[in-house]
Amino acid sequence: MRVTLTSPVVSLYGIGPTASEKLAKLGIYNIYDLITYIPRRYNDWSNIADITGVGADLEVSIRCMVLTMPSFNAKSKLKPITFFVGDKGIRLKVTFFNQPYLAEKFMRGDEVFCHGKVTVFNGGLQLVNPYMEKAESVDEEALVKPVYSLTQGITSKQISKWVKTALDLCGKEMLQVIPEEVIRRRGFVSPEECYRMIHFPADTDEARRAREQIAYEELVLLGIGMRMSNRRNKDEIAPVVIPQGSLPSDKASAWKKIVANLGFDLTGDQKNAIRSIQQDLMKDEPMNRLVQGDVGSGKTAVAILAMAMTAIMGYQSVLLAPTSVLATQHFNTALNILKGSGIECELLLGKTTQSEKTRIKNAIEKGSAKVIIGTHALLTDDIVFADLALVIADEQHRFGVKQRSKLLVRKTPSGFGPNTAHNLVMTATPIPRTLAMVLYGDMDTTVIKEKPKGRIPIKTYFTGSKDSRDIKELIMSMIKGGDQVYIVCAKIDDETEEEGTFFLRYDESDDSITSVMQMKEKLDNWGITKDNKTGILYGPMPEKEKLSVMDKFSEGEIKILISTTVIEVGVDNPNANAMIIMDADRFGLSTLHQLRGRVGRGGRQSYCLLVSENKSENALIRMKMMCESNDGFELARKDLELRGPGDFFGTRQHGIPALRAANLYTDLELAKEAVTEVGEVLNSGSAEAEKIEKNIKELFDLRFAESARTL
Ligand code: ADP
Ligand code: MG
Repeated sequence: MRVTLTSPVVSLYGIGPTASEKLAKLGIYNIYDLITYIPRRYNDWSNIADITGVGADLEVSIRCMVLTMPSFNAKSKLKPITFFVGDKGIRLKVTFFNQPYLAEKFMRGDEVFCHGKVTVFNGGLQLVNPYMEKAESVDEEALVKPVYSLTQGITSKQISKWVKTALDLCGKEMLQVIPEEVIRRRGFVSPEECYRMIHFPADTDEARRAREQIAYEELVLLGIGMRMSNRRNKDEIAPVVIPQGSLPSDKASAWKKIVANLGFDLTGDQKNAIRSIQQDLMKDEPMNRLVQGDVGSGKTAVAILAMAMTAIMGYQSVLLAPTSVLATQHFNTALNILKGSGIECELLLGKTTQSEKTRIKNAIEKGSAKVIIGTHALLTDDIVFADLALVIADEQHRFGVKQRSKLLVRKTPSGFGPNTAHNLVMTATPIPRTLAMVLYGDMDTTVIKEKPKGRIPIKTYFTGSKDSRDIKELIMSMIKGGDQVYIVCAKIDDETEEEGTFFLRYDESDDSITSVMQMKEKLDNWGITKDNKTGILYGPMPEKEKLSVMDKFSEGEIKILISTTVIEVGVDNPNANAMIIMDADRFGLSTLHQLRGRVGRGGRQSYCLLVSENKSENALIRMKMMCESNDGFELARKDLELRGPGDFFGTRQHGIPALRAANLYTDLELAKEAVTEVGEVLNSGSAEAEKIEKNIKELFDLRFAESARTL
């Protein structure tokens, strides 16, 4: 069978089922993924050092002569071969272990190229297991060695080899998404050549140029592709929910009563958000608004009030939540806010019984149910809305654009009337304005910055040991004071890791990570769980069990909740005032901030304890940032900055698609240029425009279909 870009990697010569499984861990499924899996960095072996400058602890490339005949010690267990190389009066002892065949390869008098780390042994310089080739057979062009992000059992050398085969077979098929004129102006090359340059650069400058082009290509794919998949028809019309002028008095007083039900005063930013939504709902142009608000800024109240407004005017609205726990919580909030208003509210989850579902669907079709809250379960074709005017997605990145458009394009029993609903998305991932432009195209953005009054800033601490007494002491003192505690772990048990939690995952075995189950054991051993009910919560648990654990936690029966990042999104329990995050270095700053945002929601002092034994600089910087800043916007900026290109792990769960060459923080200017330049060509309607548009669509699906689904 012919191998094409979309063929699975197993179809490539040299990749078997085991390797293919490992590649899948790196997000490499097909040939296209493999070719576009670009090196994280390079080892540049091409700078040949002067042998007289060689010293201990230096990693060097040198050219020199073999000075003595290789001697092989067959008796020793490690079967060492030793000989001397050198030049200009400098001698280095070379030792190879377990490679007896090399004794035949090198002879006294050969000129050789070596690369390795120089060490000192018995007062002399030595090289152990260096890379060594006869100088005449060294390919000067291949001395810049790519280093890839890896997973256990795969080496950079293997990836290099597979990429080469893949490029030889399918390089010609790589599609061009950059118009001719831009290629000429920017000095770009064909996609095939560009990917050859990045995987097998002659020098680091070539690698840099290739990376620039790939960054440009990615930004075009993302910026323009996203816009294409978000594009709505110009002639779509949405219902005018709120009439111009003043409201009839009964509606105005219904609104007043609902706002009074809140039990608190809205912050200025919440009021602003509601005002903008209200203005959008006065037009027949479909609203397309993004509300960004830091964790705990009170987005739910804004959403429910927008729904209430819509219901008062006689229309239906839907609130989509990413999990049943969250949907249930929103439903309860809605019941509270809407009590006494007579507005009918329904909750639809995957686990809702069939008869209950039928009843709800009827109420939706009849139009009596006005405020409808639920999960994916709402995104089925068999729900017909009587008067759907507003669709809100909370933590929008968990829903696909395509899925949601099912709701946005209205189905009415009569088939008449406006054909689309107003669209509002809420996210707690603050992203810079320009980035929002690239990711969301033409969405209007509202920012909720202000926190509700009376919040006491969370105190964040860090400990470098998992056995630290601080952990136990924090738990005990919180419980004594009547507070509840969250503990978050990066994996469930020894086998299962929760998807998307890993920030770094190359060359690391995961044994060091404390799992939910291990943490539970730890608390058992500390004697904490005997008198304090402790619950566990993780993604793959049955829905019913999850909801029951959350109920018990909300009601205060469960004092300590050990969980994975499933609680990252939206969970609201004002009595939980401590958050302990195990292996905190495993999470990106945005995730840590989201997790921390689960506490500090009541009027009491709350605490966050970060536990990490990782002593790397990058990890410690993140811990420090967390201890010093409570500002989600600042942390998100820093997060993008620290990740750098290629370090994309963990971004996906925040709806920021995985980029390999481009860095959405530092390359924003380039992003704007790319989108504008290519956009101009597309608008020209030329023959090339048509081809480029088709290519962008195709590659966008290949590259970002997954992320787009999560956006
Ligand atoms: P998020 O923006 O993270 O979704 P929530 O909507 O869950 O935040 O709100 C966090 C908490 O703050 C909730 O308990 C909510 O009742 C409360 N809250 C929201 N707005 C205000 C306000 N203006 N004043 C006081 N408390 C508020
Ligand atoms: Mg929320």
